[in-house]
Amino acid sequence: MLRTHTCGQLTVNDINSQITLCGWVASRRDHGKVIFIDLRDRYGLTQIVFVPTQTNREAYEKAKELGNEYVIMVQGKVNRRPKGTENPRLTTGEIEVLAERLSILNTSASVPFEIKEEVNANIDIRLKYRYLDLRRKKALDNLILRHKLYSAIRSFLDTQSFIEVESPILTRSTPEGARDFLVPSRLMAGQFYALPQSPQLFKQILMVAGLDRYYQIARCFRDEDLRADRQPEFTQLDLEMSFVQQDDIFDLIERLMQYVFREALSINIEIPFPRIDFEDSIRRYQTDKPDLRTPDKKERFSFVWVTGFPLFKYDENQKQWTSEHHPFTAPEGGDIDLSDDSWKRVKALAYDLVLNGVEVASGSIRIHQPQLQKKIFEIIGIDEREAMSRFGFLIEALRYGAPPHGGIALGIDRFLSLLANEETIREVIAFPKTQSGCCLLTGAPSFVDKAQLDELGLDIKRANEPEPL
Ligand code: ASP
Repeated sequence: MLRTHTCGQLTVNDINSQITLCGWVASRRDHGKVIFIDLRDRYGLTQIVFVPTQTNREAYEKAKELGNEYVIMVQGKVNRRPKGTENPRLTTGEIEVLAERLSILNTSASVPFEIKEEVNANIDIRLKYRYLDLRRKKALDNLILRHKLYSAIRSFLDTQSFIEVESPILTRSTPEGARDFLVPSRLMAGQFYALPQSPQLFKQILMVAGLDRYYQIARCFRDEDLRADRQPEFTQLDLEMSFVQQDDIFDLIERLMQYVFREALSINIEIPFPRIDFEDSIRRYQTDKPDLRTPDKKERFSFVWVTGFPLFKYDENQKQWTSEHHPFTAPEGGDIDLSDDSWKRVKALAYDLVLNGVEVASGSIRIHQPQLQKKIFEIIGIDEREAMSRFGFLIEALRYGAPPHGGIALGIDRFLSLLANEETIREVIAFPKTQSGCCLLTGAPSFVDKAQLDELGLDIKRANEPEPL
């Protein structure tokens, strides 16, 4: 190890110790006979003092060369800060390190924006230099919060007999109501994979396989026109259970929420969550995402389950009935009757979890009988031939003893943005994309060589100019 401690570690208990720290120069204040440096790493800040005494002169002279964001190693002694110069906002605020040796491990070009909490650089610059942006405490804290959420989710679901399974990224289209991202196949020129809009069909198939309880922290891809809180790729906690009813899913998710709030945020939330029927919600709050906090919005967090959605809705543009949730959702009562138009009013065994007026999770009890699944496809305008070509593998699987099952998916990015009190989900994603789906750090998407297109059997008919970096 190059260091004995981190920059967030030393306190009055370490006074007089000889230590070595490594980190980035966050700021340098040169007062002539004394130079102060704030040394930063992931764990915090430590004040380093350079003075030109006989033994420390070499380090002092070198400290004059330091610029912001230089990477250095400092050896020295821990001292108590003089009275009146303590900084109560830092864990290390009562001490400073008197530098005896300084090594410059790397220099830094002058940074395009100042690395401080109230960053005033625009978002495009921050995304292009995301590695600098992530040196800010708040940005890093958001990634740490995500990490804590994942580990809390994993440890809770482990106690509940869940199995984590990865489903493929190169797959077929799954109907979640958005446009697919397509990946051309080289070996099957002219054919395409779709990136998954969700692992919906795989998780149902895992239930047919008998896994009983599955989850995945899954990356999903939807090629939609982007709004402030959407990203073309996003993460959801996707889970599925066999031999359950709606109440079992609610109970599991409520206990999971209680656990993750406690573990990741040290906040106690009350369960069970209130429930409201879709129609009731529309009548009372004019929305199906009601915010049940009192008007001053002072509460930790307010969850509500919204239930009783219609199974179908009429799409005026397409002049076609479509599924309100997705076509694999079971109807209340377990079947629909096509002899009259009563199916138009059938409710779904579907539910949303709403937090502070934002939908954070959504799911349903699924259809597990192939005949009923075929009926639903027929209503939403997918004829038998198309159904078999797109979803034949699911219909086939349902024929081999599919258990009753249901599940839910929790949108991790949106959920985290609420927990971290951030306005957009960009702030809780390590490397987010812009509104037009570009990664400003790497410059994706990008043009490819003609030779690559030839291998894929593709020609470009129309090209947009790339976003400037
Ligand atoms: N597959 C659904 C979605 O991604 C969630 C679910 O029904 O479990 O929205």
